[in-house]
Amino acid sequence: MADKRCAIIGGGLGGLAAAVRIAGYGIAVDLYEQHDHVGGKANELHMEGFRFDTGPSLLTMPFVLESLFADVGEDVRNYFTINPLAQHCKYFYPDSTEITAFADSDDFMREIATKTTESAANVKKYLSYSKGIYGLSADLFLFNDIHEFSTYREQGSPKTLLNLWKLDSLRTVHRANTSFFRDPRVVQLFDRYTTYNGSNPYKAPATLNIIPHVEYNMGSFIVREGIYRIPQALGKLAEKQGVTMHTNRRVERIVHANKQVQGILVDSEMIPYDFVCSNADVVTTYRDLLKDETSRDAKRYRHLEPSSSALVFFWGVRGGVSKKLSVHNILFSSDYKEEFGELFDRKVCPRDPTVYIYCSSLFNPADAPKGNENWFVMINAPYDDGQDWEHETQESRKRIVHKIDSLLHIDIERNVTCERITTPQDIAVQTMSHRGSIYGISSNSRTAAFMRQRNRSKRYRGLYFCGGSAHPGGGIPLVLLSGKICADLVKRFEL
Ligand SMILES: Cc1cc2nc3c(=O)[nH]c(=O)nc-3n(C[C@H](O)[C@H](O)[C@H](O)COP(=O)(O)OP(=O)(O)OC[C@H]3O[C@@H](n4cnc5c(N)ncnc54)[C@H](O)[C@@H]3O)c2cc1C
Repeated sequence: MADKRCAIIGGGLGGLAAAVRIAGYGIAVDLYEQHDHVGGKANELHMEGFRFDTGPSLLTMPFVLESLFADVGEDVRNYFTINPLAQHCKYFYPDSTEITAFADSDDFMREIATKTTESAANVKKYLSYSKGIYGLSADLFLFNDIHEFSTYREQGSPKTLLNLWKLDSLRTVHRANTSFFRDPRVVQLFDRYTTYNGSNPYKAPATLNIIPHVEYNMGSFIVREGIYRIPQALGKLAEKQGVTMHTNRRVERIVHANKQVQGILVDSEMIPYDFVCSNADVVTTYRDLLKDETSRDAKRYRHLEPSSSALVFFWGVRGGVSKKLSVHNILFSSDYKEEFGELFDRKVCPRDPTVYIYCSSLFNPADAPKGNENWFVMINAPYDDGQDWEHETQESRKRIVHKIDSLLHIDIERNVTCERITTPQDIAVQTMSHRGSIYGISSNSRTAAFMRQRNRSKRYRGLYFCGGSAHPGGGIPLVLLSGKICADLVKRFEL
């Protein structure tokens, strides 16, 4: 088997997962990353004694990560520490309601029953509905490639097909949530999970109500040493498996003849490979690496609506400025529908944004100088459509400061000691993601799950896709699964 050679383009989480697994099959793997370090969107930033994770902050479905290590005979605990959170998130509403989403389900239901007009029984019913969607769809939609015929023969899939109606794809997330809850604060809380894949709850199918199950019934987790330890550890794991890491090497082309992949072009040199896995964004792969602007797949994918992006402010903050904060915090907007209209229809940053604050120094004091806190302050932003990002950033910053001051009752401006900013344009440039979208295409239509790029190209033999813009989508567990699906297909079709 070792005479087979594979190139992986990109050292994001999906590329790293694919590299580890493919090398585990005894194939010679070379991974090419254009930057001097792996991680892609999962990166880190150091500033005046503060450390920040620049991309993902929340880890769900840690078993996906653990099994990646276990499958090659390693224990994830030798690399970093995964801890469950006792509070998933703290929610702050414009009417001064504060809701803590406790990990303990009885505590959470009691919190909802105390702070809102909804009953604990209703929340229980909702989480059981969410669990039902996961039970029916996870095998087909998350753990396998829905585009491969063989998937439909496999265990679980026939059951899903017979019960498609139970996946609730005919209603939108918001419509389904309003059928469970009357209190708009609870509807908003559960609508918010649609943003976990960069979509609009007023358009996305209610199948996405699978996400609350993942958080409330399976848990939310932190990596004590920082999320960036994940790609760092995967890089080491890949090398242990024999993967050769080529950092600071940008792949210029995927070379093919008669629709058969032959290798890649790096520094104007053609390097032959038997097959190639692209962890680069799908649109960029077609446009820049395959120089394919005309095939059906290339055109189709280019015209699909990208997911939302993000505007992130990394703030060093004097500690203790707000005693109310948990690790993850949401300060809600007063008109969620308007906010998503601005994001997806008008493509501007919201005038009244929902603000997310993540503070890892609350569980890892080493992330900030003594007596300080590292605030990762993020709002959902439209994908890059040529907006004036300097203007959008300045205006959004004022709105964010106002929201924090009014909901947390503090003067945040006086307590920010240093700052760095990431715009959707920066995300596009740094990670080559199409228009700076975070999660590939949006799920704002019933068919989106089927429109994502399949993991094995039908058009180019020997070309595979992994990462957030390919099936099954973005977010840490899903891109790790895309690496697994990709490796499984390689095993089936290349060995
Ligand atoms: C602000 C933000 C917040 C997020 N929050 C969360 C969260 O809380 N939880 C969660 O689960 N997920 C979150 N995500 C999403 C998550 O980070 C991504 O889904 C995931 O990291 C993407 O991994 P990927 O495999 O698609 O690779 P990417 O991260 O997109 O990396 C692709 C890599 O390929 C490299 N590359 C591209 N083209 C070439 C080339 N031609 N040659 C060589 N190298 C190339 C790039 O440099 C990059 O390193 C967030 C993302 C962002 C940006």
